[in-house]
Amino acid sequence: MNLFDVYPLFDIAPVKAQGAYLWDENGRRYLDLYGGHAVISIGHSHPHYLKRIARQLYDIGFYSNSVQMPLQQELADKLGRLSGYDKYELFLCNSGAEANENALKLASFHTGRKKVIAFKGAFHGRTSAAVAVTDNPAIQAPINETDNVIFLPLNDTEAFKEAVQAHGSGLAAVIIEGMQGVGGVHVPEEAFLQEIAAGCKTVGALLILDEVQTGYGRTGKFFAHQHAGIQPDLITVAKGMGNGFPIGGVLINPSIEAKHGLLGTTFGGNYLACVAALAVLEVLEDEKLMENAAHIGNRLMQELRQLPGVRDVRGAGLMIGVELEEPCGPIRKQLLTEYGIFTGSSSDKNTLRLLPPLCIGAREADTFLSAFESILHTIAIQTN
Ligand code: PMP
Repeated sequence: MNLFDVYPLFDIAPVKAQGAYLWDENGRRYLDLYGGHAVISIGHSHPHYLKRIARQLYDIGFYSNSVQMPLQQELADKLGRLSGYDKYELFLCNSGAEANENALKLASFHTGRKKVIAFKGAFHGRTSAAVAVTDNPAIQAPINETDNVIFLPLNDTEAFKEAVQAHGSGLAAVIIEGMQGVGGVHVPEEAFLQEIAAGCKTVGALLILDEVQTGYGRTGKFFAHQHAGIQPDLITVAKGMGNGFPIGGVLINPSIEAKHGLLGTTFGGNYLACVAALAVLEVLEDEKLMENAAHIGNRLMQELRQLPGVRDVRGAGLMIGVELEEPCGPIRKQLLTEYGIFTGSSSDKNTLRLLPPLCIGAREADTFLSAFESILHTIAIQTN
């Protein structure tokens, strides 16, 4: 049987990982600045994480969601405390797309409405409702096409106000990423997020913050929207939540109504996923990784701005988009093959993305900066 062709493949087959490093089958070491697309939060194979999962697997790994699972409450309590959302409710599922799917469903059920505002360049997943609010018709099938979604330019307050006026009474939700990831690290301005939060309140629509990529301390705060001081009605999480163990969730303002049975899933919130997610939060807190992300990330961004051929550096903490004056593909390839440094791409061909594990230190940042600088210098000399 052949594999279904899903993604373009990087020329690397990792067989081992530790902290911020990967090794291939020949024992070559790579610095991982991609983190499995922002999934690796606390670092690969963290000993505390491994121990927690192994012990749980020996006791009980899975049963159904129809029994008492105190681990789920333990996870909700810890997530509530570290994120500042202790009054919210937590629905557990398995992925980012599933989290967004359920958030959209909740918003529509609660408001009794169908229309959703989403943003140009947005990515929210590939399931039906999630892909309908994703700005990429190339990944939609006819069954996913709907006229319920209005796409607006990011950071255009006037366009937002007009759309809310035009669709207000039919608007179920506004969905927005904490920072656009796949789209090339585009950051919503704080004033824009505040305008959206206020607009939603005025017309009774719910604000859904997709923190699948930006959550769990990556941008230097637990959630990226917390930089703007707003409080969304629904927050979706996945990726870094499990550090590689599949788990996702929706944080739900308790005033949102959902009838029993509206949401549910077989695997969501199973024992193993819960201990993985608990171990992530324990390490995040004990090792002050959120603070580290802010510190190392800010330094990296400042230094990247000084390099030749760099047009723009966007993001916060350890979610960084580096827009170059030329396509980043060949440079990323050179970083990988010559320097053993793994970086990410985005749907903007000139923008390279850094999404490293939140445990990287000054040494890793410097290794990358010196390799990147020497590549960019060579290009600058060649083009001058
Ligand atoms: N939302 C955002 C912001 C994402 O970046 C992604 C994945 N790239 C998703 C949702 C979808 O998550 P998953 O692949 O776990 O379904």
